[in-house]
Amino acid sequence: MQKFSGLELLRRALGGHKSWQPQWRNPDPKPEYDAVIIGAGGHGLAAAYYLAKEHGITRVAVLERGWLGGGNTGRNTTIVRSNYLFDESAALYEHSVKLWEGLSQDINYNVMYSARGVLMLAHNIHDVQSFKRHVHANRLNGVDNEWLTAEQCKEFCPPLNISSMRYPILGGALQRRGGTARHDAVAWGFARAADARGVDIIQNCEVTGIRRGADGAVEGVETSRGFIRTKKIGVSAAGHTSVVMAMAGVRMPLESYPLQALVSEPVKPAFPTVVMSNTIHAYISQSDKGEMVIGAGTDAYTSYSQRGALHITTHTLDAICELVPQFRRLRMLRNWGGIVDVTPDRSPIIAKTPVPGLYVNCGWGTGGFKATPGSGNVFAHTIAKDAPHPINAPFTLERFRDGFLIDEAAAAAVAH
Ligand SMILES: Cc1cc2nc3c(=O)[nH]c(=O)nc-3n(C[C@H](O)[C@H](O)[C@H](O)COP(=O)(O)OP(=O)(O)OC[C@H]3O[C@@H](n4cnc5c(N)ncnc54)[C@H](O)[C@@H]3O)c2cc1C
Repeated sequence: MQKFSGLELLRRALGGHKSWQPQWRNPDPKPEYDAVIIGAGGHGLAAAYYLAKEHGITRVAVLERGWLGGGNTGRNTTIVRSNYLFDESAALYEHSVKLWEGLSQDINYNVMYSARGVLMLAHNIHDVQSFKRHVHANRLNGVDNEWLTAEQCKEFCPPLNISSMRYPILGGALQRRGGTARHDAVAWGFARAADARGVDIIQNCEVTGIRRGADGAVEGVETSRGFIRTKKIGVSAAGHTSVVMAMAGVRMPLESYPLQALVSEPVKPAFPTVVMSNTIHAYISQSDKGEMVIGAGTDAYTSYSQRGALHITTHTLDAICELVPQFRRLRMLRNWGGIVDVTPDRSPIIAKTPVPGLYVNCGWGTGGFKATPGSGNVFAHTIAKDAPHPINAPFTLERFRDGFLIDEAAAAAVAH
């Protein structure tokens, strides 16, 4: 890590910022690695970091067909929370929140984790019952979550309209330790920390094939920059998991949908927390730049397009205008989409696969950013030990055959 005096910082700034050390190297692929991770999103980079840090496996390459963080990691709305219903999910997401709380110190990079609270609004009796069940289940698991009346919601988030709505606010579930983090910084921080421990991050390197030996085990990956030999491959290729896994002959229980988000012009601090409403299909928070960050549910049709349909965003804006009427005067700055891989039970898969040496981390749907450090951490364990960590042991591929589902549809339907 370079350290500079104030004068040196000024000299470099006035010198046109030309002599900064790059945050990570730009290496050519080596012929062989101990492990290859496919996909340099947050999850792949975190897995590489923890492989090096916690398991001493440093001969690792992270292969990225585009630029690091250019997938869903750089496209999401950064909501972090752990108040999922089932014990298995609560343990996984809580593991992640605990890592978020110390992440900036651990990787020495400010990921701007902001525990400003996540408030999930209830608009009907079913919502009230479901969220109260979540509150009780979470507390039994030592995860903070509390029920607020409509008036308490308004007190916590004054811009909310709790009176004249088509779908009145009947209350909300608040996780105070939830919040947001800066998505790019998460990718960059993990990349720099992994690189510093010897991991090769190779961008513009698309995996085009997975080579298997006569015994069925993986032998390496075909890439746009040549063949790379390895006995362990970790797939973290959100949005394209089915495509990559098909290269090894594995059919995945996934559907891929576009998911959109949009931001407003920046304004002064006006929105103190993260608000989500599954029922009217909207969620909103304010970024540190001042933009209102807004998102919705997935598009209705499967697609590999990173653009969604316009009516999804207009529907979401209708909902936002009902929730926070003064935002009717905000202008929208830009919108974009990502592709999310969705499993039948809306829970991820972090597991070994039927192919020896092939591991997969996928199916995060609309909500995997929050899990980035925790997922990377247990995925690294799974790859290093060839066995799952106790936290990800239930998140198998086989559960879709044997029926041990972790049905988080209510927690993950629209929301994040
Ligand atoms: C609009 C939107 C809003 C969201 N909001 C939230 C939110 O508020 N909170 C939350 O928790 N989650 C949210 N999510 C979900 C979250 O973004 C993802 O679950 C998470 O970022 C997945 O991270 P990842 O590292 O697995 O995938 P990615 O960041 O997508 O990384 C996968 C990488 O694999 C690469 N790749 C694919 N195929 C190949 C190949 N053949 N060879 C080499 N590389 C390949 C891709 O280029 C990509 O960079 C949102 C997603 C979207 C799209």
